[in-house]
Amino acid sequence: MKNQQFIDRSLKNLWHPCTQMKIQQAQSLIPIKRGEGVWLYDYNEKKYLDAISSWWVNLFGHNQSEIKKYITDQLDLIEHVMLAGLTHEPAILLSEKLSSITNLGHAFYGSDGSNAIEIAIKMSVHYWRNKGCPKKNKIIYLENSYHGETLGALSVTDIKLFRKNYASLIKKNNPIKTPDWRYADKGETSESYALRCIEDLEIYLQDNHQHIAAFIIEPLVQCATGMGMYHATYLAKARALCTKYQIHLIDDEIAVGFGRTGKMFAFEHAQIKPDFICLSKGLTGGYLPLSSVLTTDDIYMAFYEDKIEKGFLHSHSYTGNPLACSAALGTLSYFENHDVINQNNKTSAYISERIKTLETLPISNLRNVGMIWAFELEEASKNTIKKITMKAIKNGLFIRPIGNTIYFMPPYVINHVDIDFMIDTTLEAIQSYV
Ligand SMILES: *Cc1c(COP(=O)(O)O)cnc(C)c1O
Repeated sequence: MKNQQFIDRSLKNLWHPCTQMKIQQAQSLIPIKRGEGVWLYDYNEKKYLDAISSWWVNLFGHNQSEIKKYITDQLDLIEHVMLAGLTHEPAILLSEKLSSITNLGHAFYGSDGSNAIEIAIKMSVHYWRNKGCPKKNKIIYLENSYHGETLGALSVTDIKLFRKNYASLIKKNNPIKTPDWRYADKGETSESYALRCIEDLEIYLQDNHQHIAAFIIEPLVQCATGMGMYHATYLAKARALCTKYQIHLIDDEIAVGFGRTGKMFAFEHAQIKPDFICLSKGLTGGYLPLSSVLTTDDIYMAFYEDKIEKGFLHSHSYTGNPLACSAALGTLSYFENHDVINQNNKTSAYISERIKTLETLPISNLRNVGMIWAFELEEASKNTIKKITMKAIKNGLFIRPIGNTIYFMPPYVINHVDIDFMIDTTLEAIQSYV
């Protein structure tokens, strides 16, 4: 069995992310040899439907020929050059295109999502120093937020499991009440709950705005906490409050940017202009690690000075890597050449229709925005969720529940036959144990 060889060697030599290695030993790890569209293939040619787009990055599935061509063409020119003192067409073109679709500019590049968060929060705090307001130096964030796990990003992440062991290394802060409508009172609409949370935010800002540089937020969906969704009015009102109290709004579109919520960017649902936008994950269609932070002319100009130390000196060795920028250009070209958003709306309607069959099960909070679906198995124990997951995987469906939340975030190219398979396999797996 080829698979078993790879599992044994992997567990001996690799330390897997987000994994208790002792528990992983007992479960089956799936060694993936190749991918095609929504399907992943192991070394025994068994296939698995990637229902979560490999941690939400593979927008158009695996082995996507258009993106691949952008990378291979670039490979014949230059694989990498540093971006200080040198520049290159892929980074220039990408910056122009990102600027035109986000309405912000001055693209700064990082290597992954957490990197983008570090960059945005450093820029915000540095902006206020350059403006002569060094006391405005705190970043506020929502309850249950997730913005990454490097120390700066972790300091604005409110997921206890990830944060607790490192509390001594990061600044203590009180998160702002989350508008996630699962916390609404019985009978309260998501909109009125969002408005109630806005009142809380305003009270906090009234008292503390002198010390706040920025409010960082996952627009519309708090993904990593288990797809907590909220009403777009919260975003619109939060933007207005940030303007009123002179606080930057950092829009973390890392998980939901590039069409996931039914619009190109989630902030469009509230028709707002953030001060910073962080992009990563889907930016390269799942091909290469890359992130970008875009910002306003006002913020850019606060760094534009004769003094070196007023500049933004942050850097990474691979900042603006040409291959990664080319993968991003391939992704944007795919959006230009295919009617992705409209096509997604049709796919989304079909999944929403088919997912109703799960309502016969003891599930709650079945919810959807764009190409994301989630629900809770309230009564299920950890062990039950594990059994359900293993059963789905055995039957060829790769899911990875968060706590007792089961969710789907499939590649946009999923077709009706594969959707039926995804729903039917989930139904069968859950039915076996609840
Ligand atoms: C994944 C994620 C990050 C961190 O990105 P990494 O590339 O994993 O470091 C930040 N913010 C949000 C909303 C994310 O989903």
